[in-house]
Amino acid sequence: MKRIFILLLCLCVMLIPVRAATSEKLVALTFDDGPSGRYTRKLLEGLEERNAKATFFLCGYRMEQDRSLTQRIFQEGHEIGLHGYSHKPMQNMCQPDVLQELKKSVSLLPEGCEAVFLRCPGGTCSRCTCQAAAALGLSLAYWSVDPRDWATDNADAIEKEVLNHVQDGDIILMHDMSGSSVEAALMIVDELLEEGFRFVTVSQLAAHKGITPVPGTIYPRFSQKN
Ligand SMILES: [Zn+2]
Repeated sequence: MKRIFILLLCLCVMLIPVRAATSEKLVALTFDDGPSGRYTRKLLEGLEERNAKATFFLCGYRMEQDRSLTQRIFQEGHEIGLHGYSHKPMQNMCQPDVLQELKKSVSLLPEGCEAVFLRCPGGTCSRCTCQAAAALGLSLAYWSVDPRDWATDNADAIEKEVLNHVQDGDIILMHDMSGSSVEAALMIVDELLEEGFRFVTVSQLAAHKGITPVPGTIYPRFSQKN
C-alpha cells in the first residue's frame, strides 16, 4: 500500500510541470492607428517595465511622420503589423489600390522588420483585400476582445470590459491614441500578469498555439491546434 502511495506521489510530482506548461495562458494586446507622438512612448515604457510584448498595427502616414518611434517599437521586441497607409477603409478599394496602400506601408517598416499581419482600417475588408494581402504574404489579424477604448475616456471601464471577457488565446483590440487607453492597457497588463497570463505578440501567440498563419486568411484569435 505504502509503495503504491509513493508511486502515486511520484507520478503527481512528475505531472505538475507538464500541467503548468500546457495551461500557460497567453494573450496578444494590439494597438491600432499609431504611432502616436503623444501616447506611444508612455505605453512603450509601461510595457518594458512589465516585460510585456504587444503588436502595433501602424498607419503608413504616421510611420512616415515618426520614423524613430516606429524604429523604437520594433527594437523593443514588439511586432509591427500593417493598418494601411492612409487609414481609408479598404472594403471598396480595388485590388491595385489596396496593393499600393500595403506596399507603401511595407516600404516604411524599419530595416529587418517584416510584417506578417494586416488589420484593415475599421476592421472592414473584402475578398479583394484578402487577395491583395495574400499576394504580399500577409495574413489578417482581427480580434476577439474589443473594449471600444476609442469611445470612452474612462480607463476603469475599458479595463473592466477586457477583464470580463479575456481568455487564453485572445487578441485584444486597443488604440494607443489616448491617455485613457494607455492607462487602461497598463492596468490590464498588471491584472492579467497576476492572473498568470503572459503577453506575447500576435505571431508568437500563433506559434505557441501551433498555428502557421496562412496568407489571406482572417484570424480573430488563436486557440490550440487539435
Ligand atoms: Zn484604425
